[in-house]
Amino acid sequence: EAARAALARLVLDVPDFPEPGIVFKDITPLLADHAGLTAVVAALAEAGRDAEGNVVVDKVLGMEARGFILAAPVALALGIGFVPVRKVGKLPRETHAVSYALEYGEATLELHRDAVAPGERVLLVDDVLATGGTVKATRELVEACGGSAHAVAVLMELGFLPGRETVGDLPVTTLMTV
Ligand code: IMP
Repeated sequence: EAARAALARLVLDVPDFPEPGIVFKDITPLLADHAGLTAVVAALAEAGRDAEGNVVVDKVLGMEARGFILAAPVALALGIGFVPVRKVGKLPRETHAVSYALEYGEATLELHRDAVAPGERVLLVDDVLATGGTVKATRELVEACGGSAHAVAVLMELGFLPGRETVGDLPVTTLMTV
């Protein structure tokens, strides 16, 4: 429908960025298009509703940095709040932290300890699901707060990587598989 058509038209492939051999997916033309942005935000927000259209999550979490851009309007569309998951050292108060392996090296993500209340259910939003490491780490952060991840919604899934296996039983909504 509208969201998938917008993605197909407005996400550009940029070869050899940031390194030779990588084809980077540039979503900035999609973000700059009001109709396209409206359609993808509405489609991502569906992951926070049940079949009857009731909102079944308490918070929307966005992962730094492109996840922020999408997760905040998804939260507004659902009538709930937005929470940032940040790279290490950016959040000013007490956090939970989880480190995970990247292709080269390691990354650490943080979440304020009081950002998700015990028992709350959250929707995770990001632009790309690649290896799934970011989503898996974020789920662990939510669980460290006593909450639970309800689902993950992304614009794009890199189908040649084992992202879905890594995120386990968490339902994944993807608008486009590359
Ligand atoms: P993962 O942890 O390997 O699933 O990688 C997902 C994270 O890395 C997301 O936050 C994405 O923004 C970013 N990412 C990974 N690969 C790509 C890519 O090919 N294009 C754009 N972003 C990517």
